[in-house]
Amino acid sequence: MTRETLAYAAQAPTTPLAPFTFDRRDPGPRDVAIDIAYCGVCHSDLHTARGEWAGTLFPCVPGHEIVGTVTAVGSEVTKFAVGDTVGVGCMVDSCRTCPSCDAGEEQYCTGTGFVGTYNGPDKHLGGHTLGGYSDHIVVDQDFVLTVRHDAADLAAVAPLLCAGITTYSPLKHWGAGPGKKVGIVGLGGLGHMGVKIAAAMGAEVHVFSTSPGKRDDALRLGATDLIVSKDADQMAAQAGTFDLILNTVAASHDLDPLLACLKRDGTMVLVGVPEHPHPALNIGTLVFARRALAGSLIGGIAETQEMLDFCHQHGLTSDIEMIDMAEINTAYDRMVKSDVKYRFVIDIASMKQAA
Ligand code: NAP
Ligand code: ZN
Repeated sequence: MTRETLAYAAQAPTTPLAPFTFDRRDPGPRDVAIDIAYCGVCHSDLHTARGEWAGTLFPCVPGHEIVGTVTAVGSEVTKFAVGDTVGVGCMVDSCRTCPSCDAGEEQYCTGTGFVGTYNGPDKHLGGHTLGGYSDHIVVDQDFVLTVRHDAADLAAVAPLLCAGITTYSPLKHWGAGPGKKVGIVGLGGLGHMGVKIAAAMGAEVHVFSTSPGKRDDALRLGATDLIVSKDADQMAAQAGTFDLILNTVAASHDLDPLLACLKRDGTMVLVGVPEHPHPALNIGTLVFARRALAGSLIGGIAETQEMLDFCHQHGLTSDIEMIDMAEINTAYDRMVKSDVKYRFVIDIASMKQAA
């Protein structure tokens, strides 16, 4: 049994997203059916829909920052009930038995690999998974999150499901907190959540940005200052002073000036995954100060719940610009120009109204 789903899809890397219908499975015993209210727009959606990364399966329905309401649950579901407000992030399944899954780090599943909310293998219906630019979704209860924020905040909660966890997880792992000087590179969807979360963790936060005009926003979000990363003098003034730098930039850029800002034993963590590689590093910048360059992928399900609860406790949500589904292609064009303050969120009801 299946149910027709209203969505927006890209049919090829070069065609804009457009209305599309497909069938989702009816909920099985362990499944939760969710009517989607809001879906955030992540730069990964754009990378995928436009074929900037290898391996996009078409038609592509992006969207992995999902908030909605439970409409049905399977007979074995114990964690959720009809009417609950819930979230779905970047994963809808994993092998559940490998060491990473055992450790609650499903995003690093070495068994089957995690199943992405879109562009992953769909073991139920065959083909590939289709994401949150759609009116409803059916997800195994183990990959559904509880949302405790007020109803009025739900649109601004959606981006926490990817931008929130992708910054929370490395900030926590590398010890952002009181006494630590933390840099956030790129003030976009991920970056602005990184600033809010690192500040809430008690760190001293600085933004590295190519956009001097974002300075007031950086301060409002919780940063001490904004360093213009293209200004060599401003960068030189920061040399050797950072404990941790979280790099969220979605485009290829020179990492050396940022690495030089780390203290001895400091770490720069890459979370941005640009279409083209970064220029080769000056190895001496790492070697002569025992600096580290690392990477991090979203976060596990338990940690995603922890992040949602942390944000709820600290009153944190995303700064959003709400759009209608039909505005998605313009939103993508603006995201490429770093013109987003600071996350687009799709009002999924707009799709039904237009249909
Ligand atoms: P976004 O909203 O577009 O923000 C990216 C920011 O990077 C821009 O706002 C801009 O900030 C900066 N930037 C853009 N072009 C630049 C350039 N040429 N040089 C230097 N800085 C530049 O994107 P996002 O949604 O935050 O995603 C960021 C990246 O993370 C994407 O590659 C995405 O695929 C990836 N991602 C990774 C994970 C993970 O698990 N690792 C999860 C989600 C997303 P300024 O104007 O401040 O310079
Ligand atoms: Zn994302």
